[in-house]
Amino acid sequence: MASSHTVLMRLVASAYSIAQKAGTIVRRVIAEGDLGIVEKTCATDLQTKADRLVQMSICSSLARKFPKLTIIGEEDLPPEDVDQELIEDGQWEEILKQPCPSQYSAIKEEDLVVWVDPLDGTKEYTEGLLDNVTVLIGIAYEGKAIAGVINQPYYNYQAGQDAVLGRTIWGVLGLGAFGFQLKEVPAGKHIITTTRSHNSQLVTDCVAAMNPDDVLRVGGAGNKIIQLIEGKASAYVFASPGCKKWDTCAPEVILHAVGGKLTDIHGNALQYNKEVKHMNSAGVLATLRNYDYYASRVPESVKNVLVP
Ligand code: AMP
Ligand code: MG
Ligand code: MG
Repeated sequence: MASSHTVLMRLVASAYSIAQKAGTIVRRVIAEGDLGIVEKTCATDLQTKADRLVQMSICSSLARKFPKLTIIGEEDLPPEDVDQELIEDGQWEEILKQPCPSQYSAIKEEDLVVWVDPLDGTKEYTEGLLDNVTVLIGIAYEGKAIAGVINQPYYNYQAGQDAVLGRTIWGVLGLGAFGFQLKEVPAGKHIITTTRSHNSQLVTDCVAAMNPDDVLRVGGAGNKIIQLIEGKASAYVFASPGCKKWDTCAPEVILHAVGGKLTDIHGNALQYNKEVKHMNSAGVLATLRNYDYYASRVPESVKNVLVP
């Protein structure tokens, strides 16, 4: 019998369960003690066993259920048979109870592009800054990020034994974002969140031009968007070409679903069609509120260097 649910809602419900499984893999690799660290382009661009296993798990689990999807994962892995133990077949029933926004109800599987960051914040993961880490599954249609799931495997890891470890946040444009309490930074405070491990003079200059009350340097694009929606930071400013489409796709959806805005440093929307170049060459500027204040303070000298 054909499912009564739309392709998009079935995909989001599956991505939720797959992201939860990913979180268990991220924790298991740490518990086993061998991170299997490989340098990709340089000493701050790392891959661990968790990045590899989680990508295999997410991409294979999605491809089995949705064979016509385009799936783009961060890690460049040799083709190999994936252990059955890595496959997640579940779907989160609470998501299937939600209505699909009407503009997405006729979407076909082959029209969707999924951007997968199996482990965002790898550098911090290797340094034990575990709550910086997220698993990102972003879903795009006609070049636009429309749905996303973020698992934070070590949410609550310092909150004591009774606290539930890990959480999953999800959202669909037109429906909302769920799995957290929306909070705003007090009015008038400018708290900037930016990179901890990939700093440059340009990043520092751009942050300084925002006249911040405070600057938080933490790992992960997913983690920084969580700071925006939970009232810890007012703007995510990254004047660098370092982050990629899989870093921004899912976080952008969660932010947009609650009324925020994420663009490049010039104010252009990011594109997520399958042919697009992976690098966000013109940086990232994201806020929950007061986007125009931050956009107006990006120096021309920064804009001149970061060409889209
Ligand atoms: P960060 O804020 O430093 O955690 O960066 C956000 C995301 O972009 C992470 O996935 C980083 O790995 C990636 N990223 C940022 N800058 C670079 C860079 N220079 N080289 C490689 N990856 C980067
Ligand atoms: Mg990343
Ligand atoms: Mg990654």
